[in-house]
Amino acid sequence: MRIHRRRLLETALVAAASMAAPAVIGQARPRVVVVGGGAGGATAARYMARDSNGQLAVTLVEENELYHTCFHSNLYLGGFKSYAEITHRYDTLASRYGIALARDRAEGIDRDRREVVLRGGTRLPYDRLVLSPGIDLKYDSVPGWSKTAEETMPHGWKPGPQTQLIRKKLEAVPNGGTIVMVAPPNPYRCPPGPYERASMFAHVLKSTGRGDARIVILDPKESFSKQGVFQEGWERYYGTMIEWLGPKIHDGIRSVDPATNTVVTGFETYRDCAFVNVIPAQMAGEIARRAGLAPPGGYCAIDPATMKATVDANIHVLGDACAAGDMPKSAFAANSQAKVAAMVVRAELTGSRSFPPRYLNTCWSLVETDDAIKVGGRYEPRDGRIAAVETFVSQNDEPADLRKQNEAENLGWYAAITADMFG
Ligand code: FAD
Repeated sequence: MRIHRRRLLETALVAAASMAAPAVIGQARPRVVVVGGGAGGATAARYMARDSNGQLAVTLVEENELYHTCFHSNLYLGGFKSYAEITHRYDTLASRYGIALARDRAEGIDRDRREVVLRGGTRLPYDRLVLSPGIDLKYDSVPGWSKTAEETMPHGWKPGPQTQLIRKKLEAVPNGGTIVMVAPPNPYRCPPGPYERASMFAHVLKSTGRGDARIVILDPKESFSKQGVFQEGWERYYGTMIEWLGPKIHDGIRSVDPATNTVVTGFETYRDCAFVNVIPAQMAGEIARRAGLAPPGGYCAIDPATMKATVDANIHVLGDACAAGDMPKSAFAANSQAKVAAMVVRAELTGSRSFPPRYLNTCWSLVETDDAIKVGGRYEPRDGRIAAVETFVSQNDEPADLRKQNEAENLGWYAAITADMFG
């Protein structure tokens, strides 16, 4: 009964929002369906609805009522932001921009009929489909770890309860305890994310009288994003609290045991860990893989000028789910790609002007209070891929006021991107 009432409500919501924008007289409006209301999808939906002045009927399919940002979830773990500050709603997209909200899971895409099939059975026809479902985790990529084990050894790489679980576990770490983080292999969501998280763990432990705790990062990679500046900051602020071990040192992550909080590497066995944070290997979100847009276990190939899937010109794939050349998997990147896709969709369906695509990214990471480092670049289509044409990265020994300025930029960016996504 409850399910039935919810369905009716959702159907009504979709219908009401569809009517909110004026139709082009004498002609059905072209239909755009967006799957995934995150950094890529929410931005694309908002730009298409806002800039087409009601010429496009935009439907946003999102399974969750609330969006908790992964970006700045590390600041939540560090105590710099509240949970409410990283939680957002979709209401304004419907009320101000006339976007139809379908709160359901997209289970399939019928590419021949150009329809998205929702869990409840509803079929949403589209002229263009924009997919931004984010990532899925490879639960079999770390021996001994599994979907069930994520309750004991959380990943925190999808937002919401997992982030809160990590914070709870961090609060319980005793002075002298050991946190082991298993870092992911490339390519994964947010390249500097694990290392900013380790910084926030150390910040919390040190500032709450637990400076004898240690954080061991077991990395399958030989190197990581902003490595030099991260490691300089760790030494300066946290002494020996954070220990990073590359594959040549730990000799491979052999297994984890959630029952005993044990991690076995080729070199050492970590027993009775205060907690273990497993960040596994990743792949494109299920809906993109099911639709045949990504190879098994991989990401969707796209045309760098339009963000269209190379195998289907009616579908654009954005954000973490696509293989975006030199661009990292970040909210900044997804937001930038969404604007290109929205422009192309409008141009093709309404005849509006389009411009050469330009992509941008910056990723800031907080190392300690008022000390943020950054990496980023400008990107353009080149030789069939999105290529970096200009890059920058923070340097060692930068003045304190520059690092403080970086953090002000980071906070300003968060306010700007969430306004850009949710209106
Ligand atoms: P998402 O934002 O994950 O959105 C996907 C949405 O699709 C979700 O809301 C999901 O519910 C929905 N969805 C998926 N499948 C379906 C379906 N079948 N039906 C209906 N809905 C569906 N990026 C930065 O730029 N800066 C940062 O500082 C930063 N920090 C980070 C820190 C951490 C710890 C992590 C984990 C990530 C961080 N990121 C950061 C990365 C950023 O969060 C992602 O790159 C970004 O969210 C990707 O956007 P997206 O649209 O691809 O996916």
